[in-house]
Amino acid sequence: NDGLFEPPVKPSDLAINKLYVNPPSPKVDWCDIGCGYGGLLACLSTAFPDKTMLGLEIRDRVAEFCRRRVLEMRKEYPGSYGNVAFERTNAMKYLPNYFAKGSIEKLFFCYPDPHFKKKKNRQRIISTQLLAEYAFVLEEGTGIAYIVTDVPELFEWMATRFERHPLFERRSDEEHSSDPVTRYVRDKTDEAQRVDKSDRGKHDASFRRLPNP
Ligand code: SAM
Repeated sequence: NDGLFEPPVKPSDLAINKLYVNPPSPKVDWCDIGCGYGGLLACLSTAFPDKTMLGLEIRDRVAEFCRRRVLEMRKEYPGSYGNVAFERTNAMKYLPNYFAKGSIEKLFFCYPDPHFKKKKNRQRIISTQLLAEYAFVLEEGTGIAYIVTDVPELFEWMATRFERHPLFERRSDEEHSSDPVTRYVRDKTDEAQRVDKSDRGKHDASFRRLPNP
């Protein structure tokens, strides 16, 4: 050994790997499906700082907007917004790839499918087929799915799909209204603010994921 030989550093000892390889991935508690511009999670993030939230959005540029928005908010308010993130994906195709079985406490479906009449049943974000996937990722017995829309026919369609599904039950109006998250879902999404400026009403409900039979 001429003194020049340095034993190679084990990859696991490299400082960069300690920083970037296998960072602990936090469990996602709440997920906003079709989050649009991310307004709902931006509000929920500071109201419920101990919950981890992920917004899923299919449109590239909209998802990119959300990511930038959250980075800017973190800069502006250091220590806040670390519990929220956004991802571009087709939630109707890939949801079960993101979350472990029974891991999600809350799923939000806010003002989805504005042109739902033109879509076939299977293309809608709430369908009997997809409810099985939502039931898969929601916590058994305690997970909650929230729906809100300004389109009465769409509300009826979505509520009926949930009510007919053996793994969901509709929460009573009292339980739904007294849930502190309900008013955020109804009023704090970007689309909700648009509906507020019109004379259209809002229709909302929530459904508990029942224990497996
Ligand atoms: N939830 C937001 C709100 O209330 O402001 C946005 C409502 S917007 C009418 C519906 C959003 O769902 C759109 O941004 C759309 O791109 C997104 N979306 C539709 N299908 C989706 C899918 N399969 N996966 C993820 N996002 C989807």
